[in-house]
Amino acid sequence: NADMAMYSAKAAGRNNFRFFESEMGEAATVRMKLENSLHHAISRNEFELHYQPRIDLKSMQIVGLETLIRWNHPQLGRIPPLQFIPIAEESGMIESIGQWVLQESCRQLRQLIDRTGRPLRLSVNVSARQLKSKTLVQQVQAVLQEAELPSHMLELELTETALMEDMDISVAILRELKDLGVMLAVDDFGTGYSGLAYLQRFPLDVLKLDRSFVNENAEGAKNLKFIKAFLDLAHALNLSVVAEGVETLEILNYLLEFSCDEGQGYLFAQPLPMDELEIFLKQSDFSMREIPE
Ligand code: C2E
Ligand code: MG
Ligand code: MG
Ligand code: MG
Repeated sequence: NADMAMYSAKAAGRNNFRFFESEMGEAATVRMKLENSLHHAISRNEFELHYQPRIDLKSMQIVGLETLIRWNHPQLGRIPPLQFIPIAEESGMIESIGQWVLQESCRQLRQLIDRTGRPLRLSVNVSARQLKSKTLVQQVQAVLQEAELPSHMLELELTETALMEDMDISVAILRELKDLGVMLAVDDFGTGYSGLAYLQRFPLDVLKLDRSFVNENAEGAKNLKFIKAFLDLAHALNLSVVAEGVETLEILNYLLEFSCDEGQGYLFAQPLPMDELEIFLKQSDFSMREIPE
């Protein structure tokens, strides 16, 4: 009986181990597959850029766009950025992907402005590794020149964690970027641990309040107090605030009450490819929408 028990424990253990191993193996295989195909993604034209409108909450007008990358994998279909950006970051490929995103989105913005005459601002996400690359400042300068865009029309979004990794280096690079005249934003604010006091060291223009604060338990009193306190403090520090992930009219009303500067989210618009965005821009005027009290 004891033998039997030991035997089955071993068998179960072995099975568990096998199960675990094959799960791990599968994840690692998918990852390797993604990493390998990422190498050719630019040259094979597999990336696509979508743009999500940013709305000024005073005028209810679209004032800017955020560039969001999409990857159409030939076998695996659409891979979300949260799945492949970390792989691109670890393997170093984010540097060429990031440069492509900057260049391509500035070109597309130039075309949009030429066609529609609307001077929208463009926000581009910049990863930690890109921020530290020695060539970012030159890249930005070259891309703006090529697209004939004034530097204040480009905003770079950096995460708190990217800024905090090597604070002194980050401060120095941000100063150079600021000298060029580009706008600087902190993305996903509230998900890191830094707090506003630390962020004062950086020459920032905009804070983007993470959507986890904006659209989860929006009705919860604690959350609302947090959003209000955050907005007051940010304004005292002369920073403009964008609320991410605005999905409901309820939360929009609170954001208006608390004098939040801009909003972005599915309530206004999904990220769209440039041709669809152009149609959307023609049709949309949020100032005409009725906002219930
Ligand atoms: P992010 O920069 O914070 O971008 C906002 C994300 O929230 C986008 O997800 C957007 O589609 C989504 N979103 C917008 N409105 C709403 C809403 O109302 N509700 C909800 N639930 N979600 C909303 P997406 O496009 O999947 O991108 C995810 C993240 O991937 C981005 O977060 C950014 O960190 C990264 N990413 C995307 N494009 C790039 C890129 O070109 N370069 C780099 N380095 N990172 C990128
Ligand atoms: Mg962003
Ligand atoms: Mg964000
Ligand atoms: Mg986010």
